[in-house]
Amino acid sequence: MTSPQCGLPSAGEKMKEMKVPFVDLSRQYQAIFHEVQDAMAKVLTRCDFILGEDVSLFESEFAQYCQAAHCVGVSSGTAAIKLALLACGIQKGDEVITVPNTWFSTVQVIYDVGATIKFVDINPQTYTMDVNALAGAITKKTKAVIPVHLFGRPVDMEPLLELAKKYNLKVIEDACQAHGALYKNRRVGSLGDVGCFSFYPGKNLGCYGDGGAITTNNDELAEKIRLLRNYGQQSKNVHVIKGFNERLDTLHAAILRVKLRYLDGWNKQRREHAQKYNELLPKSVVTPVDEDLIESVYHLYVVRSSARDKLARHLSAAGISCGIHYPTPIHLQQAYADLRIPAGSYPVSEQYAHQILSLPMFAELTDLEIEQVCTAVREFGS
Ligand SMILES: *Cc1c(COP(=O)(O)O)cnc(C)c1O
Repeated sequence: MTSPQCGLPSAGEKMKEMKVPFVDLSRQYQAIFHEVQDAMAKVLTRCDFILGEDVSLFESEFAQYCQAAHCVGVSSGTAAIKLALLACGIQKGDEVITVPNTWFSTVQVIYDVGATIKFVDINPQTYTMDVNALAGAITKKTKAVIPVHLFGRPVDMEPLLELAKKYNLKVIEDACQAHGALYKNRRVGSLGDVGCFSFYPGKNLGCYGDGGAITTNNDELAEKIRLLRNYGQQSKNVHVIKGFNERLDTLHAAILRVKLRYLDGWNKQRREHAQKYNELLPKSVVTPVDEDLIESVYHLYVVRSSARDKLARHLSAAGISCGIHYPTPIHLQQAYADLRIPAGSYPVSEQYAHQILSLPMFAELTDLEIEQVCTAVREFGS
């Protein structure tokens, strides 16, 4: 009912009209814009745009945050995984194993370095690599494995690292969705040979464009990646290997240094939101399972429903924006038709692609918004 005096909707109507965004980056910016603008102004004044002061400062701060010896800033998460593969010596004829339910580029970079793409299915409980299936996929040609800490949840790394040791495989963590996540009290990115991070704007730690980083405890790999990102240049005009232009911009590093100070707080808020969703959502949807010794940072909060598409339409009509991560497993993408992997090869990934729904999740999400989402899911029924 509209109040006759001012034409504003009543509380009830307002509630109904309130839209819940999937992610709202402007709320974060509102909270930190003074600091971000100061940090950017300093770079603009110094004009050290390429490999400037803030890049090396961010690298040491992020390495420390990840409990890793080194961090090398690069131009994107995709570049991070590509340079990690190259630094590990992965090349034509080598097989690299990952999962089919990931962002496209985890797989694309295996192709980019000329290696052979191999998949294993996911664990139905955790939605991440089925480490038991991994053993059966390793051949004499397998040289590396890319576990993906999908949705911010660490892969079960201990058995994976044991297998990797046994078969002499490099472990390249795709931690692009998992900044700050803990596995047995260790940060992801410090567990395998190399950790790869994306600072795409919507990630838990994001810059205002493309950016990425690799972390490692291996001095040689760090040095190699430092060269690879900067045309293989050891010093001015001295190119010791063939390399790329895949550097992290100083402006982004400056922004990331501001945001890194907030990351733990934001991740804590995400975990609290997940807890609230877990409590309030009806049994008609399957909610994520938390485990002892694993601390997810909930980049995404993903539920499963056998009526996913209808549920998504219902939520959309209620003003709630959702996502699907990801609707097509990579082996079924048209781009990879040449792999000739038939449908049915990875049944859990394929079945889940039809059932998963990512609900609104970002640090600044309010309790009221979470309640609105849960009410709408409850109204939908099963
Ligand atoms: C975002 C993402 C990437 C790629 O990162 P970009 O910075 O967008 O290149 C790779 N893997 C996963 C799992 C991601 O979520």
